[in-house]
Amino acid sequence: MSDCLFCKIVKGEIPSRVAYQDERVFAFHDINPQAPVHVLVIPKKHIPRIAEMGEGDAALMGEVLESARKIASQNKWKDYRLVINDGPEAAQTVFHVHLHLLSGRRMTWPPG
Ligand code: AMP
Ligand code: ZN
Repeated sequence: MSDCLFCKIVKGEIPSRVAYQDERVFAFHDINPQAPVHVLVIPKKHIPRIAEMGEGDAALMGEVLESARKIASQNKWKDYRLVINDGPEAAQTVFHVHLHLLSGRRMTWPPG
């Protein structure tokens, strides 16, 4: 989608610190990290949010999850939190689905 921030990052039109990429998945460091490690893992395909996933997107989101596992494993980030904010009330601000991978500090629960 041409006016989507994360689509522009995938295309390299907006610079990012790339953590991982393959044919269908892209990962980059968050510009405003909430932990010593804060990576966003996204499908290259534009899916606005989980609530708008279509046919076949479940397999793609499985690849996003598997990519997060691989990134963490390769970097030896042992414990981590995976978060998807889905919708404005859940604090989603960028409407291209993304998995937050957070690590490097002790987390608390419940989230704010
Ligand atoms: P969310 O609030 O779940 O939609 O998360 C959006 C995330 O995108 C936030 O953590 C932002 O800090 C991050 N973000 C926004 N713009 C950029 C950018 N240009 N490069 C990297 N991360 C970004
Ligand atoms: Zn997009």
